[in-house]
Amino acid sequence: MNVYLCVSIDCECDKGPGWRTQRPLSFIGISQGIRDRLQPLFRRFRVKPTYLLSPEVMRDARSLDVLADLRGDAELGTHLHGEFAEPGAFEPDVTSAFQCHYDRETERLKLQYLTDLFRGSFGCLPRSFRAGRFGIGKHSLRLLQDLGYSVDSSVTPHVDWKRAGAPEASFRQAATQPYQPDVDHPERVASYPGKLLEVPVTIRPSSLAGIPLIGGLAKPRWLRPTRGSIDRLVQVAQDEITHARSSYSDRAIVLNCMFHNVEVIPLASPYAKNESEADAIIERLAGLLAWAEREGVLSLGLGDVPSLFASLDS
Ligand SMILES: [Zn+2]
Repeated sequence: MNVYLCVSIDCECDKGPGWRTQRPLSFIGISQGIRDRLQPLFRRFRVKPTYLLSPEVMRDARSLDVLADLRGDAELGTHLHGEFAEPGAFEPDVTSAFQCHYDRETERLKLQYLTDLFRGSFGCLPRSFRAGRFGIGKHSLRLLQDLGYSVDSSVTPHVDWKRAGAPEASFRQAATQPYQPDVDHPERVASYPGKLLEVPVTIRPSSLAGIPLIGGLAKPRWLRPTRGSIDRLVQVAQDEITHARSSYSDRAIVLNCMFHNVEVIPLASPYAKNESEADAIIERLAGLLAWAEREGVLSLGLGDVPSLFASLDS
């Protein structure tokens, strides 16, 4: 079974401690983050990343120039922080909205706006989407399908967002490998084939998860370079491969590493407080990519995953 790696990056305006939006809006996370720091690394390891773009990024002319230059080297998709999307767009202090809390028509209009903005910016339809704060709900997947998307990547297996304020966005029971979702219940596998594929973020339970009392407090492990070490990151990838091999006899295995563009710039997210912390995030990402190269793990965009499964099924 071949193993494939998606690197999917939520792209937004520069934030800061507590995820506070920098004023006036700035986009160093695009110009320096993507162009100068991430893209050279991806080129070195021949990785095709997927940059998922929040509306404010696509309204910034300089950011659009950087992103347009990536053609052929990266997939571009969309990322909804509803505060920045019409109707009712504004510049929030913190992007706290979950799209599952909008009524269906407001969610539809904001997704339509985001998708139209993408088409106006790049002249094509986006294929892949991730909700801000992973906050999809019961209407989201059908709306995305109707707008022509082929991949959603908002599902975070083993995690729910109840404590963050969105019990509706619960993915504790979700599969960790790509699946055709029941569009009304994103966590569930559809009983009939649909047009949309869910490519969940790769998350494994804590190694302590089975232990009474302690297990309930142990945090799931994300394939995410934000914290930890290269060894721990590689371990998550290896554990998911072992799990997938035992669960699916002959399917391709897909790993989906996520983070934000702003994490690689000091003080543009809650994570990197200085250059050395930003460098450490990039070094952990480089460590994962070096492991993937050694292991013969192939890179692909989120939007390439449906055709991977279609070609393997035929
Ligand atoms: Zn986001």
